[in-house]
Amino acid sequence: MTEAFLDVAGVRKSFGSVAAVDGTDLQLDPGAILALVGPSGCGKTTLLRLVAGFERVDEGSISLGGRLLSSPRSSLPPEKRRVGLVFQDYALFPHLNVQANVAFGVPRGVDKKRRIGEMLDLVGLGGLGKRMPHELSGGQQQRVALARTLAAEPDLVLLDEPFSNLDPSLRARVRSDVWRILRECNATAIVVTHDQDEAFSLPGLVGVMLDGRILQVGAAPELYLHPADRRVAAFLGDANFIRADKQGSAAECALGTIPVRGEAEGAVEVMVRPEDLVVDPASPMQGEVIANEYYGHDQVLLMRLGNGDMVRVRVMHGAGYAPGESLGLRLASEPLAYPVKV
Ligand code: ATP
Repeated sequence: MTEAFLDVAGVRKSFGSVAAVDGTDLQLDPGAILALVGPSGCGKTTLLRLVAGFERVDEGSISLGGRLLSSPRSSLPPEKRRVGLVFQDYALFPHLNVQANVAFGVPRGVDKKRRIGEMLDLVGLGGLGKRMPHELSGGQQQRVALARTLAAEPDLVLLDEPFSNLDPSLRARVRSDVWRILRECNATAIVVTHDQDEAFSLPGLVGVMLDGRILQVGAAPELYLHPADRRVAAFLGDANFIRADKQGSAAECALGTIPVRGEAEGAVEVMVRPEDLVVDPASPMQGEVIANEYYGHDQVLLMRLGNGDMVRVRVMHGAGYAPGESLGLRLASEPLAYPVKV
């Protein structure tokens, strides 16, 4: 087996009785860009700080390019790790202009002027070297912070919620700029976000972190369609969990006898995305509309099935569905079944 470029193995970090990072693994190949997503407090920032060397691990190890960065017995100082961390607030020096800020990232022995020029060109700020940080927009400040980090040619770039301080109108553009820049310099990077839509919109790998552990890493469609466990399924988007009795590849539930995927047998919950339930007048399975959430581009109907189970059904057209109406429903996918924890 070839060794991963970044190898986080069984890392644990507690603050008092709080296990902020709880025995997590993560492997990345060179040039991989990972959007790490998880709810507030799941340990994302702590993991970045452990990788950057601002915290020491209690257990486990972190290696980069075959070099051991951290173990309980040894910890390389941050400046020796070749890891660049872009902070949430960019942390630019307010009294220094753009060039001088970027100069801070340039290692000794490198032609400073040339590297600053290259970095500012890379982030599209070629003409703004003399500006002060307060004379820049949030998106431009973000790019200066990135230029300063990349100027050091780190082996790994970490970005902690890099878009959270930006207006929604700017976010999408800055996001694609940052992605393009990371790709252009062939960086290996981890971008932390708590926003699932944002993680999905980034064209790389997505990692889901819950309760101190990264539970699954993969491409966005893989995570959405094949979540490794119920918690990942519930975190990533809207999902109905329907109690069922599964024997082999069929399950009996409020939707009838349906084909299902997954290893679990007996008492299970099948995960049905709202868009996998389709309104179909010809279907014998009936549901009653209880409420209609209108989102403009689509709507979600809250519906009660024959046995009283409630499900969410996404419909693209037909704003006219009214509470009390009875509709035929058809299942349009083969859902995954998860064991019911007792
Ligand atoms: P957010 O998205 O809100 O930034 P996060 O996923 O980055 O959250 P962390 O900041 O890593 O989460 O925190 C994980 C847990 O560890 C939280 O319960 C937090 O309160 C706790 N924690 C983090 N840093 C410290 C610290 N220095 N001292 C005590 N507890 C801490």
